[in-house]
Amino acid sequence: MSQAVHRRMDFVVKVSKFCNLRCRYCYEYESLGNREAMSREQLRQLYRHIEAWRAQVDARDQQRTELGFIWHGGEPLLLEPGFYWDTLQDQKEIFGEDVPRKNVLQTNLTVLDEERIELLRRGFDVVGVSVDVFGGLRVNVAGKDLQPQTLKNMERLRERGVPFSTITVLTRANIGRLRHIYDFFSRAGIDFRLLPLFDGAFEGQHRSFDMSTQDILKAFQELVDLWLEKDGFLKVYPTLEQIQTVLRFIKGNAAPVYYNKREWLPVLLVNTNGDCFTYGDPYEDPEWCVGNLFTTPLVDLFAGERFAKSALAAERRIAQNCLSCPYFGACSGYPIAEEHYNFKEKRPDGGRTCVVERNLFAYIEKRIRAQQELLTDERVEAAFREQPAA
Ligand code: SF4
Repeated sequence: MSQAVHRRMDFVVKVSKFCNLRCRYCYEYESLGNREAMSREQLRQLYRHIEAWRAQVDARDQQRTELGFIWHGGEPLLLEPGFYWDTLQDQKEIFGEDVPRKNVLQTNLTVLDEERIELLRRGFDVVGVSVDVFGGLRVNVAGKDLQPQTLKNMERLRERGVPFSTITVLTRANIGRLRHIYDFFSRAGIDFRLLPLFDGAFEGQHRSFDMSTQDILKAFQELVDLWLEKDGFLKVYPTLEQIQTVLRFIKGNAAPVYYNKREWLPVLLVNTNGDCFTYGDPYEDPEWCVGNLFTTPLVDLFAGERFAKSALAAERRIAQNCLSCPYFGACSGYPIAEEHYNFKEKRPDGGRTCVVERNLFAYIEKRIRAQQELLTDERVEAAFREQPAA
Protein backbone atom coordinates (compact mmCIF):
# COMPACT_ATOMS: atom_id res chain seq x y z
CA MET A 1 0.00 0.00 0.00
CA SER A 2 1.28 3.47 -0.85
CA GLN A 3 2.33 5.65 2.06
CA ALA A 4 0.35 8.64 0.77
CA VAL A 5 -2.64 9.75 2.83
CA HIS A 6 -5.84 9.42 0.82
CA ARG A 7 -8.49 10.70 3.18
CA ARG A 8 -9.06 12.05 6.63
CA MET A 9 -11.55 11.70 9.39
CA ASP A 10 -11.73 14.18 12.27
CA PHE A 11 -13.07 13.51 15.73
CA VAL A 12 -14.10 16.63 17.63
CA VAL A 13 -13.41 15.58 21.20
CA LYS A 14 -15.46 17.53 23.75
CA VAL A 15 -13.01 16.61 26.46
CA SER A 16 -14.74 18.76 29.13
CA LYS A 17 -17.33 21.55 29.05
CA PHE A 18 -15.70 23.36 31.96
CA CYS A 19 -14.63 26.90 31.04
CA ASN A 20 -13.31 30.05 32.71
CA LEU A 21 -15.22 32.19 30.16
CA ARG A 22 -18.92 32.73 29.59
CA CYS A 23 -18.92 33.88 25.95
CA ARG A 24 -22.39 35.21 25.46
CA TYR A 25 -23.05 33.15 22.34
CA CYS A 26 -21.57 29.84 23.54
CA TYR A 27 -23.78 26.89 22.61
CA GLU A 28 -22.42 25.07 25.67
CA TYR A 29 -23.39 27.97 27.93
CA GLU A 30 -25.41 25.93 30.42
CA SER A 31 -22.65 23.34 30.91
CA LEU A 32 -19.66 25.66 31.31
CA GLY A 33 -19.52 25.18 35.09
CA ASN A 34 -19.46 21.39 34.80
CA ARG A 35 -16.04 19.97 35.70
CA GLU A 36 -16.76 16.51 34.35
CA ALA A 37 -14.08 15.42 31.88
CA MET A 38 -13.32 12.37 29.77
CA SER A 39 -11.07 9.95 31.61
CA ARG A 40 -7.85 8.46 30.29
CA GLU A 41 -9.46 5.02 30.14
CA GLN A 42 -12.53 6.32 28.26
CA LEU A 43 -10.22 7.88 25.70
CA ARG A 44 -8.24 4.65 25.38
CA GLN A 45 -11.51 2.87 24.65
CA LEU A 46 -12.42 5.54 22.09
CA TYR A 47 -9.02 5.08 20.37
CA ARG A 48 -9.45 1.30 20.29
CA HIS A 49 -12.87 1.63 18.66
CA ILE A 50 -11.55 4.10 16.11
CA GLU A 51 -8.48 1.99 15.33
CA ALA A 52 -10.54 -1.18 14.80
CA TRP A 53 -12.72 0.70 12.32
CA ARG A 54 -9.75 2.37 10.57
CA ALA A 55 -7.88 -0.91 10.12
CA GLN A 56 -10.99 -2.51 8.65
CA VAL A 57 -11.91 0.24 6.17
CA ASP A 58 -8.33 0.90 5.08
CA ALA A 59 -7.81 -2.80 4.33
CA ARG A 60 -11.18 -3.00 2.58
CA ASP A 61 -10.63 0.10 0.43
CA GLN A 62 -6.83 -0.16 0.05
CA GLN A 63 -6.65 3.44 1.28
CA ARG A 64 -4.68 5.23 3.95
CA THR A 65 -6.66 7.34 6.40
CA GLU A 66 -5.33 10.18 8.50
CA LEU A 67 -7.06 10.59 11.86
CA GLY A 68 -7.64 14.05 13.30
CA PHE A 69 -8.38 14.66 16.98
CA ILE A 70 -9.71 18.16 17.59
CA TRP A 71 -9.64 18.84 21.32
CA HIS A 72 -12.51 21.09 22.21
CA GLY A 73 -14.46 22.22 25.27
CA GLY A 74 -15.25 24.25 27.32
CA GLU A 75 -11.64 25.29 27.60
CA PRO A 76 -9.42 22.25 27.06
CA LEU A 77 -6.32 23.97 28.47
CA LEU A 78 -7.89 24.03 31.95
CA LEU A 79 -7.08 20.33 32.20
CA GLU A 80 -3.60 19.53 33.45
CA PRO A 81 -0.96 19.19 30.72
CA GLY A 82 -0.12 15.74 32.14
CA PHE A 83 -3.57 14.54 31.05
CA TYR A 84 -2.73 15.33 27.42
CA TRP A 85 0.80 13.86 27.58
CA ASP A 86 -0.71 10.62 28.89
CA THR A 87 -3.41 10.42 26.23
CA LEU A 88 -0.96 11.30 23.44
CA GLN A 89 1.21 8.45 24.70
CA ASP A 90 -1.85 6.17 24.62
CA GLN A 91 -2.44 7.18 21.00
CA LYS A 92 1.10 6.09 20.13
CA GLU A 93 0.53 2.74 21.78
CA ILE A 94 -2.91 2.08 20.26
CA PHE A 95 -2.43 3.48 16.75
CA GLY A 96 1.28 2.74 16.41
CA GLU A 97 3.76 4.84 14.49
CA ASP A 98 2.34 4.09 11.04
CA VAL A 99 -1.17 5.52 11.37
CA PRO A 100 -1.04 9.18 10.36
CA ARG A 101 -2.80 11.43 12.85
CA LYS A 102 -3.03 15.04 13.87
CA ASN A 103 -3.94 16.57 17.20
CA VAL A 104 -5.48 20.02 17.12
CA LEU A 105 -6.31 22.06 20.22
CA GLN A 106 -8.97 24.76 20.12
CA THR A 107 -8.49 27.23 22.96
CA ASN A 108 -9.57 30.64 24.27
CA LEU A 109 -5.88 31.05 25.24
CA THR A 110 -6.59 32.99 28.42
CA VAL A 111 -4.73 30.49 30.63
CA LEU A 112 -1.16 29.91 29.59
CA ASP A 113 1.93 28.94 31.58
CA GLU A 114 5.30 27.44 30.69
CA GLU A 115 4.00 23.87 30.91
CA ARG A 116 1.11 24.66 28.57
CA ILE A 117 3.35 26.47 26.09
CA GLU A 118 5.52 23.36 25.98
CA LEU A 119 2.43 21.19 25.53
CA LEU A 120 1.25 23.31 22.60
CA ARG A 121 4.71 23.31 21.05
CA ARG A 122 5.54 19.64 21.32
CA GLY A 123 2.26 17.85 21.94
CA PHE A 124 -0.12 19.34 19.37
CA ASP A 125 0.21 19.64 15.61
CA VAL A 126 -2.09 22.64 15.28
CA VAL A 127 -3.33 25.26 17.75
CA GLY A 128 -6.54 27.17 17.04
CA VAL A 129 -7.25 30.30 19.06
CA SER A 130 -10.75 31.76 19.40
CA VAL A 131 -10.64 35.53 19.05
CA ASP A 132 -13.38 37.79 17.67
CA VAL A 133 -11.31 41.01 17.54
CA PHE A 134 -14.49 43.12 17.97
CA GLY A 135 -17.79 42.57 19.75
CA GLY A 136 -16.90 42.18 23.44
CA LEU A 137 -18.89 38.93 23.75
CA ARG A 138 -16.02 36.79 25.03
CA VAL A 139 -16.35 37.58 28.73
CA ASN A 140 -15.60 35.81 32.01
CA VAL A 141 -18.08 34.93 34.78
CA ALA A 142 -17.93 38.51 36.06
CA GLY A 143 -18.73 39.88 32.59
CA LYS A 144 -15.19 41.16 31.91
CA ASP A 145 -13.96 40.97 28.32
CA LEU A 146 -10.85 38.74 28.38
CA GLN A 147 -9.76 39.36 24.81
CA PRO A 148 -6.76 41.50 25.92
CA GLN A 149 -5.47 38.43 27.80
CA THR A 150 -5.91 36.26 24.69
CA LEU A 151 -4.04 38.80 22.52
CA LYS A 152 -1.22 38.97 25.06
CA ASN A 153 -0.91 35.19 25.05
CA MET A 154 -1.00 35.07 21.25
CA GLU A 155 2.04 37.34 21.38
CA ARG A 156 3.73 34.95 23.83
CA LEU A 157 3.10 32.03 21.49
CA ARG A 158 4.63 33.98 18.62
CA GLU A 159 7.70 34.88 20.68
CA ARG A 160 8.11 31.22 21.58
CA GLY A 161 7.68 30.06 17.99
CA VAL A 162 4.41 28.15 18.50
CA PRO A 163 2.36 28.50 15.31
CA PHE A 164 -1.39 28.99 15.56
CA SER A 165 -4.40 30.02 13.51
CA THR A 166 -7.59 31.66 14.72
CA ILE A 167 -11.34 31.27 14.62
CA THR A 168 -13.53 34.35 14.69
CA VAL A 169 -17.21 33.93 15.43
CA LEU A 170 -19.33 36.15 13.20
CA THR A 171 -22.16 37.90 15.06
CA ARG A 172 -24.11 41.12 14.66
CA ALA A 173 -21.65 42.58 17.17
CA ASN A 174 -18.68 42.36 14.76
CA ILE A 175 -20.28 41.99 11.32
CA GLY A 176 -19.82 45.70 10.60
CA ARG A 177 -16.07 45.47 11.34
CA LEU A 178 -15.02 42.82 8.84
CA ARG A 179 -12.54 45.09 7.10
CA HIS A 180 -10.87 45.84 10.42
CA ILE A 181 -10.86 42.17 11.38
CA TYR A 182 -9.28 41.29 8.04
CA ASP A 183 -6.67 44.05 8.46
CA PHE A 184 -5.90 42.91 11.99
CA PHE A 185 -5.09 39.34 10.88
CA SER A 186 -3.46 40.48 7.67
CA ARG A 187 -1.04 42.80 9.51
CA ALA A 188 -0.22 40.07 12.00
CA GLY A 189 0.07 37.45 9.23
CA ILE A 190 -2.31 35.10 11.07
CA ASP A 191 -4.64 32.72 9.19
CA PHE A 192 -8.26 32.85 10.26
CA ARG A 193 -11.61 31.17 9.82
CA LEU A 194 -14.84 33.12 10.03
CA LEU A 195 -17.51 31.01 11.68
CA PRO A 196 -21.13 32.18 11.65
CA LEU A 197 -22.88 31.99 15.01
CA PHE A 198 -24.08 28.49 15.91
CA ASP A 199 -27.54 27.87 17.43
CA GLY A 200 -27.78 29.06 21.03
CA ALA A 201 -28.01 26.94 24.18
CA PHE A 202 -31.41 28.40 25.11
CA GLU A 203 -34.26 30.44 23.64
CA GLY A 204 -33.35 34.12 23.22
CA GLN A 205 -29.62 33.69 23.98
CA HIS A 206 -28.61 35.38 20.73
CA ARG A 207 -31.37 37.99 20.65
CA SER A 208 -29.10 41.04 20.63
CA PHE A 209 -26.47 39.73 18.20
CA ASP A 210 -28.19 37.17 15.93
CA MET A 211 -27.93 37.46 12.15
CA SER A 212 -30.18 36.66 9.22
CA THR A 213 -29.13 34.39 6.37
CA GLN A 214 -28.73 37.48 4.21
CA ASP A 215 -26.38 39.01 6.80
CA ILE A 216 -24.18 35.90 6.66
CA LEU A 217 -24.21 35.89 2.87
CA LYS A 218 -23.21 39.56 2.74
CA ALA A 219 -20.42 39.00 5.25
CA PHE A 220 -18.97 36.13 3.19
CA GLN A 221 -19.25 38.27 0.04
CA GLU A 222 -17.35 41.05 1.76
CA LEU A 223 -14.67 38.60 2.83
CA VAL A 224 -14.25 37.46 -0.79
CA ASP A 225 -13.91 41.10 -1.86
CA LEU A 226 -11.35 41.80 0.84
CA TRP A 227 -9.33 38.73 -0.05
CA LEU A 228 -9.30 39.62 -3.74
CA GLU A 229 -8.46 43.25 -3.12
CA LYS A 230 -5.61 42.77 -0.65
CA ASP A 231 -2.01 41.97 -1.47
CA GLY A 232 -0.35 38.90 -0.06
CA PHE A 233 -1.60 35.44 0.55
CA LEU A 234 -3.56 35.24 3.77
CA LYS A 235 -5.29 31.94 4.44
CA VAL A 236 -8.86 32.97 5.10
CA TYR A 237 -11.47 30.27 5.54
CA PRO A 238 -14.05 29.41 4.34
CA THR A 239 -13.25 31.98 1.59
CA LEU A 240 -10.40 29.93 0.09
CA GLU A 241 -12.52 26.79 -0.02
CA GLN A 242 -15.38 28.73 -1.64
CA ILE A 243 -13.10 30.25 -4.29
CA GLN A 244 -11.65 26.79 -4.96
CA THR A 245 -15.14 25.43 -5.58
CA VAL A 246 -16.02 28.15 -8.08
CA LEU A 247 -12.69 27.75 -9.90
CA ARG A 248 -13.39 24.02 -10.23
CA PHE A 249 -16.78 24.94 -11.67
CA ILE A 250 -15.41 27.51 -14.15
CA LYS A 251 -12.47 25.41 -15.29
CA GLY A 252 -14.66 22.33 -15.53
CA ASN A 253 -11.63 20.06 -15.72
CA ALA A 254 -11.86 18.30 -12.39
CA ALA A 255 -13.73 15.11 -11.62
CA PRO A 256 -17.07 15.90 -9.95
CA VAL A 257 -17.26 15.44 -6.19
CA TYR A 258 -20.40 14.27 -4.42
CA TYR A 259 -20.80 14.16 -0.67
CA ASN A 260 -21.99 10.77 0.48
CA LYS A 261 -22.08 10.50 4.24
CA ARG A 262 -22.62 6.73 4.15
CA GLU A 263 -19.46 6.30 2.13
CA TRP A 264 -17.26 8.71 4.08
CA LEU A 265 -18.06 10.87 7.07
CA PRO A 266 -15.36 13.56 7.40
CA VAL A 267 -16.11 14.62 10.98
CA LEU A 268 -17.78 13.16 14.04
CA LEU A 269 -18.42 15.05 17.26
CA VAL A 270 -17.80 13.07 20.46
CA ASN A 271 -19.51 14.58 23.49
CA THR A 272 -18.00 14.47 26.99
CA ASN A 273 -20.04 11.36 27.87
CA GLY A 274 -19.05 9.61 24.63
CA ASP A 275 -22.31 10.30 22.75
CA CYS A 276 -21.66 11.05 19.09
CA PHE A 277 -23.32 13.46 16.68
CA THR A 278 -22.72 14.37 13.08
CA TYR A 279 -22.52 18.06 12.21
CA GLY A 280 -25.74 18.34 10.23
CA ASP A 281 -27.91 16.97 13.04
CA PRO A 282 -29.32 18.77 16.10
CA TYR A 283 -26.52 18.80 18.68
CA GLU A 284 -27.21 16.96 21.95
CA ASP A 285 -30.69 15.94 20.82
CA PRO A 286 -30.91 12.29 21.99
CA GLU A 287 -33.04 11.52 18.92
CA TRP A 288 -30.02 12.31 16.75
CA CYS A 289 -27.26 10.71 18.82
CA VAL A 290 -25.70 8.11 16.50
CA GLY A 291 -24.22 6.05 19.35
CA ASN A 292 -21.69 6.14 22.18
CA LEU A 293 -18.06 5.70 21.25
CA PHE A 294 -16.96 4.79 24.78
CA THR A 295 -19.19 1.74 24.72
CA THR A 296 -19.84 0.98 21.04
CA PRO A 297 -17.34 0.11 18.30
CA LEU A 298 -17.29 2.73 15.54
CA VAL A 299 -17.98 -0.01 13.00
CA ASP A 300 -21.29 -0.77 14.77
CA LEU A 301 -22.12 2.90 15.12
CA PHE A 302 -21.82 3.43 11.34
CA ALA A 303 -23.90 0.30 10.71
CA GLY A 304 -26.66 1.41 13.10
CA GLU A 305 -30.17 2.71 12.42
CA ARG A 306 -29.39 6.07 14.00
CA PHE A 307 -26.60 6.73 11.56
CA ALA A 308 -28.81 5.59 8.67
CA LYS A 309 -31.43 8.15 9.78
CA SER A 310 -28.82 10.90 9.89
CA ALA A 311 -27.52 9.96 6.42
CA LEU A 312 -31.03 9.89 5.01
CA ALA A 313 -31.76 13.39 6.33
CA ALA A 314 -28.57 14.68 4.66
CA GLU A 315 -29.46 12.93 1.41
CA ARG A 316 -32.90 14.55 1.44
CA ARG A 317 -31.39 18.01 1.86
CA ILE A 318 -29.00 17.33 -1.01
CA ALA A 319 -31.80 16.01 -3.24
CA GLN A 320 -34.04 19.01 -2.48
CA ASN A 321 -31.32 21.55 -3.21
CA CYS A 322 -28.36 20.29 -5.17
CA LEU A 323 -29.96 18.47 -8.08
CA SER A 324 -31.10 21.80 -9.52
CA CYS A 325 -27.94 23.69 -8.54
CA PRO A 326 -25.44 24.52 -11.31
CA TYR A 327 -22.54 24.17 -8.87
CA PHE A 328 -23.30 20.58 -7.89
CA GLY A 329 -20.30 18.46 -8.73
CA ALA A 330 -17.89 21.34 -8.14
CA CYS A 331 -19.59 21.69 -4.75
CA SER A 332 -20.10 18.27 -3.21
CA GLY A 333 -23.37 19.20 -1.49
CA TYR A 334 -21.61 19.21 1.89
CA PRO A 335 -22.80 22.75 2.78
CA ILE A 336 -26.48 21.82 2.76
CA ALA A 337 -25.78 18.37 4.17
CA GLU A 338 -23.79 19.50 7.22
CA GLU A 339 -23.24 23.27 7.59
CA HIS A 340 -25.61 24.82 10.09
CA TYR A 341 -25.48 28.34 8.73
CA ASN A 342 -27.03 26.97 5.54
CA PHE A 343 -29.96 25.52 7.46
CA LYS A 344 -31.63 28.71 8.57
CA GLU A 345 -34.12 29.03 5.72
CA LYS A 346 -37.03 26.62 5.97
CA ARG A 347 -38.89 25.37 2.90
CA PRO A 348 -42.69 25.14 2.95
CA ASP A 349 -42.35 21.34 3.22
CA GLY A 350 -40.21 21.68 6.37
CA GLY A 351 -36.94 21.05 4.50
CA ARG A 352 -34.09 23.55 4.27
CA THR A 353 -32.92 25.79 1.48
CA CYS A 354 -29.27 26.36 0.62
CA VAL A 355 -29.13 30.13 0.56
CA VAL A 356 -25.69 31.20 1.71
CA GLU A 357 -23.42 28.89 -0.26
CA ARG A 358 -25.34 28.84 -3.52
CA ASN A 359 -25.70 32.61 -3.73
CA LEU A 360 -22.13 33.12 -2.66
CA PHE A 361 -20.86 30.84 -5.43
CA ALA A 362 -22.90 32.88 -7.93
CA TYR A 363 -21.34 36.05 -6.54
CA ILE A 364 -17.79 34.68 -6.77
CA GLU A 365 -18.42 33.40 -10.30
CA LYS A 366 -19.68 36.82 -11.39
CA ARG A 367 -16.61 38.50 -9.92
CA ILE A 368 -14.18 36.10 -11.58
CA ARG A 369 -15.86 36.23 -14.97
CA ALA A 370 -16.00 40.03 -14.88
CA GLN A 371 -12.31 40.10 -14.11
CA GLN A 372 -10.90 37.33 -16.32
CA GLU A 373 -7.35 38.13 -15.26
CA LEU A 374 -8.24 36.64 -11.87
CA LEU A 375 -8.07 33.25 -13.54
CA THR A 376 -4.36 33.73 -14.05
CA ASP A 377 -3.83 35.57 -10.78
CA GLU A 378 -1.06 33.76 -8.92
CA ARG A 379 -2.81 34.16 -5.60
CA VAL A 380 -6.08 32.75 -6.87
CA GLU A 381 -4.20 29.85 -8.45
CA ALA A 382 -2.41 29.29 -5.17
CA ALA A 383 -5.78 29.30 -3.41
CA PHE A 384 -6.89 26.63 -5.84
CA ARG A 385 -3.92 24.43 -4.94
CA GLU A 386 -3.99 25.21 -1.24
CA GLN A 387 -5.29 22.42 1.01
CA PRO A 388 -8.08 23.64 3.29
CA ALA A 389 -7.05 23.98 6.92
CA ALA A 390 -8.27 21.65 9.63
S1 SF4 B 1 -24.24 25.34 -3.34
FE1 SF4 B 1 -25.80 24.42 -1.99
S2 SF4 B 1 -27.37 23.66 -3.43
FE2 SF4 B 1 -25.52 24.03 -4.63
S3 SF4 B 1 -24.45 22.05 -4.70
FE3 SF4 B 1 -23.60 23.22 -2.97
S4 SF4 B 1 -24.80 22.59 -1.20
FE4 SF4 B 1 -25.96 21.98 -3.02
